[in-house]
Parts: sequence; C-alpha cells; structure tokens
Amino acid sequence: MPGKPHTRFRAGFVAIVGRPNVGKSTLLNRILGEHVAIVSPRPQTTRNRILGIHNRPGAQVAFFDTPGLHRTKGALNRHMVETALRTLGEVDAILFLVEAGTGPGGRVEIGEATRWAVEEVKRAGKPALLGVNKMDRAPRPTLLPVLDAYKGLHEWRELVPFSALTGENVDRLLEVLAEHLPQADGPLFPPEMLTDQAERQLAAEYVREQLMLRTRQEIPYAAAVEVEEFDEGERRDGGGLVRIGAVICLERESQKAIVIGKGGAMLKQIGTGARQGLERLLGSRVFLSLTVKVDERWSEREASLRRLGL
Ligand code: GDP
Ligand code: MG
Repeated sequence: MPGKPHTRFRAGFVAIVGRPNVGKSTLLNRILGEHVAIVSPRPQTTRNRILGIHNRPGAQVAFFDTPGLHRTKGALNRHMVETALRTLGEVDAILFLVEAGTGPGGRVEIGEATRWAVEEVKRAGKPALLGVNKMDRAPRPTLLPVLDAYKGLHEWRELVPFSALTGENVDRLLEVLAEHLPQADGPLFPPEMLTDQAERQLAAEYVREQLMLRTRQEIPYAAAVEVEEFDEGERRDGGGLVRIGAVICLERESQKAIVIGKGGAMLKQIGTGARQGLERLLGSRVFLSLTVKVDERWSEREASLRRLGL
C-alpha cells in the first residue's frame, strides 16, 4: 500500500528453554539489563517461569525464562519441568539454548537428556531457534562442529552462537528472534514494563539466590523463601528505606544449623548479599531481617507449593 512502511511491527512471546545451567536466566538478565532472574552455578536455580519484556525498534519480544528441562522425581521438580513444557505450548517461538564446547578430541557429544528436550521442542511445533551460549569459553574453531552437530537434530530457523556473560552477539540473537514473531499492530505490554515479577517476589528470590551461592549439598534444594513483610512506608522517590522480613523454610533441623552458621555468620552473609542486590534493584536502602524455620517435607506438599506461589 502506498505510504505504508515496508515492514510491520512484530510482537510475541518467546520461551527460553534448555537443560539446566545452560545460561537461560543469565541471558534474560543480559537482555533486560536488570537482575530479574536469579543465577547460580547449580542446576535448578530457576523454579518458576519469569516474564521479561524487551523492546527494540519495530518489535517487542516477551520472553519466558523457564526451569531447566530434566527428567526427575519429586513434586517440586515435576512442577518445574511441567512449567517449562507447558510454556512451549503458549508461545510464538522457542529459543532452545545449549552450551558451546566440545569434548575430548574435539568431539561434540549431545547427551540423551538434550535429545529428549529437543523432542519436546519438536512436539510443540513452533518456530524454534538454536542459541549456542557461552561462546566466550569456546575457541572459534570449535563452534562450527557444535553448530553442525545440532543442525541435524531439528529444523532450526536459525543457529546463533552468543555469550550471555559478555553480551557478545546477543543483539544479533534478538534481531533474529524478532523476525520470527507475528506481525502486530503494536506492543503487547506497556513499554515501561520490564517483568511480571513483583518486587516482593524478587526479594524472596534474591535471598534464595544467596542460599544457592553460599551453601552446599542439599541445602539449596531443600529451601524455600517467603517474604512476610514488605514495608514501603519510608520509601521515597529515588531513595528512602524499604523494610523486608523474609523466612527461609527448610526441611530439617540439621539444615537450619547450617544456614544459620557459627554464631549466625552464614545467615548474616546471606542477608548482606541479598540486601546489597535489593538496594540496587529497588534504588533505596533496605533493612532485611531473615528468620529460619523448619517445615518438614514442604517441597513434597502441593499446598506448600501453592502457598509459595509456585
Ligand atoms: P540456567 O539454569 O540455564 O538458567 O543457567 P544460569 O543462567 O543460572 O547460569 C548457569 C551458570 O552458567 C552460571 O554460573 C552462569 O554464570 C554461567 N553462565 C551463563 N551464561 C554464561 C556465558 O555466556 N559464559 C559463561 N562462561 N558462563 C555463563
Ligand atoms: Mg535459570
């Protein structure tokens, strides 16, 4: 039509899916420029799906960061994987993430679990792109065999190597993703909206992130965090104070001793780490008080899951 711009606006939902630890949450944070999804070197850091909205000229991309795809037992784990699989059915396009890197002798080994995850992507029947993350760790010549190996698994619309950590090639990834979204009359969400995560929920997640980073063995998986107080009475434009009270729920008394630590040292570290992150996020000072309680087998109980907003 005369006078009409050649390319229309594009908008839609993209699921970021993949095996645990491939860098899904790091990518979402990189795209948004904010720490909305917690990250740790441990698998199963992300328990819920997180919406993050990216605006660029001519397009709006609404991402869902999801828990890692793995086969599993236990109510919480099952719930996490189901969340990721359900998201595949609800989006316009899928970004399947894997890690760059080759095994001994430059061989590319694609494990059984990854193949299963790709089958789930295929079943969804949506346009799917392959993102090969962590290219900062992979010397250039090793990227090609990785791309070749994954090419055979599915008819990916594109294959894009990038690094969520350094940001290398992330803009290219976004550009390509936007091209695969449906045309739209305008954005789906108001341009100032970054995420669906309420500050209160982010506060709980920041505490859980510190637990993931600072404690070992089973503690991170045995913990849930609830924010019971989020008092903004003294919050001011560009400053003031937010008072946050959070409870760390654990499954056993022995875990409680570990999380509190000698003379309360561990709990103090967790609190300081979370508070510093929250002060950056909220743009105000934060008073964070943490308590620890034992709630046997909370992770197995559906009621608990619902109460914790999972
Ligand atoms: P998720 O489970 O897929 O959400 O993975 P996370 O985002 O929690 O990241 C898992 C680990 O991989 C963390 O220790 C990240 O710092 C690390 N990581 C993520 N992206 C990159 C990357 O581009 N390069 C490198 N070297 N490490 C990364
Ligand atoms: Mg994650």
